[in-house]
Amino acid sequence: MKRRTKLLSVLVFVFALILALSACGQDVAKKNESGNKSNSSKNDKPVIGLSVSDLTLERWQHDRDIFTKKAEELGAKVIVQSANGDSAKQLSQIQNMLSQGIDALVIIAVNSDALSPVVDQAKKEGIPVLAYDRLINNADVDAYVSFDNVRVGELQAEYLVKQVPKGNYFLMGGSPTDNNAKMFREGQMKVLQPLIDKGDIKVVGDQWVKDWSASEAMSIMENALTAQNNKIDAVVASNDSTAGGAIQALEQQGLAGKVAISGQDADLAACQRIAEGSQSMTVYKPIKLIATKSAEVAVQLAKGEKINSDGTVNNGKIDVPYIKLDPIMVDKNNLMDTVIKDEFHSYDDVYKNVPEDKRPEKN
Ligand code: BGC
Repeated sequence: MKRRTKLLSVLVFVFALILALSACGQDVAKKNESGNKSNSSKNDKPVIGLSVSDLTLERWQHDRDIFTKKAEELGAKVIVQSANGDSAKQLSQIQNMLSQGIDALVIIAVNSDALSPVVDQAKKEGIPVLAYDRLINNADVDAYVSFDNVRVGELQAEYLVKQVPKGNYFLMGGSPTDNNAKMFREGQMKVLQPLIDKGDIKVVGDQWVKDWSASEAMSIMENALTAQNNKIDAVVASNDSTAGGAIQALEQQGLAGKVAISGQDADLAACQRIAEGSQSMTVYKPIKLIATKSAEVAVQLAKGEKINSDGTVNNGKIDVPYIKLDPIMVDKNNLMDTVIKDEFHSYDDVYKNVPEDKRPEKN
């Protein structure tokens, strides 16, 4: 009898051990499937760390606000930190967030090439990472949510070559440490290269603007105008802050409105310049789309759920799932039907500097 009880308890113990081991196996399987930890108590109210590159440019403030609101609606808590354009500061802020116990990390990179150490650290801790707007190179990023950045560059160049099919072009690239700046350039060159090869377009200068700084763009443009005796017909500016700086330099030479110039972001100041005629176009990337989508994906990742993508982009290490949004060309003819219709900016703000009799009819 005693022996029987002993045998029974051994059997119960072995059974319990098998159960425990198989549960453990399932956990590992689950972890491998989603690529991160699944902790249901934590996931009821996941904590998301949002590391913002800088908040000086108008667009990033909208990104932060809309992202946070959406993530909170989805039940998450968001911790936001801005690195003020300082790459080293971004690294230490992220390390700090990781030590606070976040469930997903969302990064708007200052330097696309400098973040692999913190992404590696996050991955080791089972925390999924989303690259927001700017790709992070050479790192195990779980998802990339952005606009079609090559298309942005194409839209800029397509517009300019329609206005100025032949002539002297100045290329004003974005920040050399921002992977997007390279993608914009790739798109621009797809359009420009055949015309350069044909001899229709001559590139008279090509410079990249540190930190996308408007003041740096202004001095680059001043020097270019001097070097070319003002003989520049078009400026391929990669965004609105650099376009703004370049336009100041053109104004000093009485050339604003005479030289075609692109932009990107549909910043209020840029939309006003378009309405007044000193900037030719901008590329509107509805922030609501990217911020909302990113918040949804971040919450899914935090919960260990599967995400859907529109394809992948290689970051030098892996093919990162890419959620790609469509950018929109904006010039003086469709300001009303795009940024104003979407209430991205108000009619009164956009046409503030345009005499009332020159404004389009208010709908
Ligand atoms: C963004 C642009 C922005 C620029 C400067 C890029 O990565 O895609 O929208 O104008 O950074 O902040």
